[in-house]
Amino acid sequence: PWDDFRSLLDAHKGQIKRCEKLPQLKRYLQEFGYTSWEEFTPDFDNQTEAAIKLYQSNFGLNATGTLDERTITQMMKPRCGAADVVDGISAMARRRSNSSSSRFLDGARGTVRGGRGPGLGVRHYSFFPNSPKWESRQLLTYAIDASAPAVTGIAAADLSALFADAFASWAAVVPINFTEIPSFALADIRIIFAHGEHGDGRPFDGILGVLGHGFSPEDGRLHFDAAETWALDVSSSSSRSAVDLKSVAIHEIGHILGLGHSALESAVMYPNIGAREVKLELHSDDIEGAQMLYGANPNYD
Ligand SMILES: [Zn+2]
Ligand SMILES: [Zn+2]
Repeated sequence: PWDDFRSLLDAHKGQIKRCEKLPQLKRYLQEFGYTSWEEFTPDFDNQTEAAIKLYQSNFGLNATGTLDERTITQMMKPRCGAADVVDGISAMARRRSNSSSSRFLDGARGTVRGGRGPGLGVRHYSFFPNSPKWESRQLLTYAIDASAPAVTGIAAADLSALFADAFASWAAVVPINFTEIPSFALADIRIIFAHGEHGDGRPFDGILGVLGHGFSPEDGRLHFDAAETWALDVSSSSSRSAVDLKSVAIHEIGHILGLGHSALESAVMYPNIGAREVKLELHSDDIEGAQMLYGANPNYD
């Protein structure tokens, strides 16, 4: 859905030429929280430049405000539909812990922020505003919508096993267990595969582009774009646009637990994942973020 961004290569503020595809790029920046417009004009104005600079700094690119090759390439990669900037707070901004305690109050933003990462004291994980989490819960239930096997072409038993593994990745590091139940209505976490607009104001966009989204605690909605070629095992799929379902599921479950996006490319909570890319191992950054919210699983070492 974002292939047209290529035509914006080298666009920058103040240029005389109006950019035909700029409204699309503005919608993109708005969708992921970078700014908001009342209308999407083709004018490359100050607001556009500021939003692009914030995007660039989140993704470790030169924050020039110009739509250079690397920026365009990054923007076109498939990604999670959850925003990078929530309520004007860029959770992804690289931050250095400046406190000796493991938690500190970030007065400027009024939210409790995470502690030191390993080594340099740089952490990349983030939370939603006010750090919501599942309070006092050791067990969360989940259900997979009955239409999922037909929509994905993946057998129900394989989907069950895949999601069990994805939840188990997180259960290994925090003191929460997850169990599948048959009742969609009663489950804490409800998994669907949906096309386009599906009732939450965050429509899916067809092949690649946005792959899925998970809502912050204690909402429990866990949604995947039914238009994707979801693969149980990308190595046995011949499709160039195959998407590894378990990798995306692990990321979205991170949101369900309360994690925001991480600026660290090797973290599971990094916003983008390529077609055919597999990322199944939680990074220490993901683990530290989850453990800030819930504490460590006593069996985790
Ligand atoms: Zn995400
Ligand atoms: Zn949704």
